[in-house]
Amino acid sequence: KLHNELVQVKGNIRVYCRVKPHATSTIRCMPDQSSLQISVDGKDHAMEFDRVYGPTSTQDQVFSGVSELVQSALDGYHVCLFSYGQTGAGKTYTMQGSEQPSGRGIIPRAVEKILETVARLQDQEWEYTMEASCIEIYNNQLRDLLGGPTAPYISDQSAIKHDPSGGHTTVNGVSRVTITDTNMAAQLVQRAASSRSCEATAMNSVSSRSHSVFMLYIAGSHPPSGTQLQGCLCLVDLAGSERLDRSQAEGLRKAEACAINQSLSCIGDVFAALASKNSHVPYRNSKLTYLLQPCLGGNGKTLMLVNVNPEPASAYESLCSLKFAAKVN
Ligand code: ADP
Ligand code: MG
Repeated sequence: KLHNELVQVKGNIRVYCRVKPHATSTIRCMPDQSSLQISVDGKDHAMEFDRVYGPTSTQDQVFSGVSELVQSALDGYHVCLFSYGQTGAGKTYTMQGSEQPSGRGIIPRAVEKILETVARLQDQEWEYTMEASCIEIYNNQLRDLLGGPTAPYISDQSAIKHDPSGGHTTVNGVSRVTITDTNMAAQLVQRAASSRSCEATAMNSVSSRSHSVFMLYIAGSHPPSGTQLQGCLCLVDLAGSERLDRSQAEGLRKAEACAINQSLSCIGDVFAALASKNSHVPYRNSKLTYLLQPCLGGNGKTLMLVNVNPEPASAYESLCSLKFAAKVN
């Protein structure tokens, strides 16, 4: 089963799409801001999403659309936001963004917003603590992106421990750093980005072949009422969704591409099982879905952000990405 099969997404899973700017475009975004048309080999395909961000959308606008979801982690929800798409479609730009203030992506803005809200809630006697982890998942193995260049790959799934009472997940061998200000969070993300596994492929000189997960663990307490809560925000920059033939990877790279496609197809399988109210949800089939299990089901909230490149050469790949998450009409 291919990961780009149609998946009906419902319930606590929302799907947004962002179209990267390009001079010649195969994608037409409609004024309703929730549908688009993609033209592939002379055939038009209409798709609907919870929200479509066109090529002129700013980082600020995209963040506005996810801000409420992000902040629900402060209410004790397990929230997860994925960026999905082929290499070069704008996943890292959307998540991390660029250096200038207007170019900053979802991760720095989310941390900033959460810290702002936490400061405001102090007036109502809420006390929060925050810790962050950065994890790479490569060939279905985990690695601590804050553990320096010699951090080992962890292939044992039992390193991931979920709290049966709905609290924080722990990952043995992965560091958690207390976050008290925005600069600190930005530095962590920078450090994490520089330790990601990158390998040249024919498609992109530096193509990210791994998933990168930024986790923010939030614990809140309200002494006057005795309320305690634990929430989590996971911001996931997924590996490129392009198929093997397109990037012409060879030899050793093939095993790697299969592992990448497998964990992307595992996400699709989990969504499909959740949408069909199937009692068995195959979280355990990949490290990524197992790690994110608390966000994907039950008390979780998930947003899939599909990034697409509208250039004609990427039309087919964009259609695959859109189909992965499009609502079936
Ligand atoms: P991916 O992470 O999906 O491989 P990137 O985020 O690295 O893709 O984007 C590829 C290139 O396109 C980068 O140079 C990035 O700055 C640029 N880019 C992506 N999205 C946008 C956008 N919405 N506006 C301007 N530039 C963008
Ligand atoms: Mg990237």
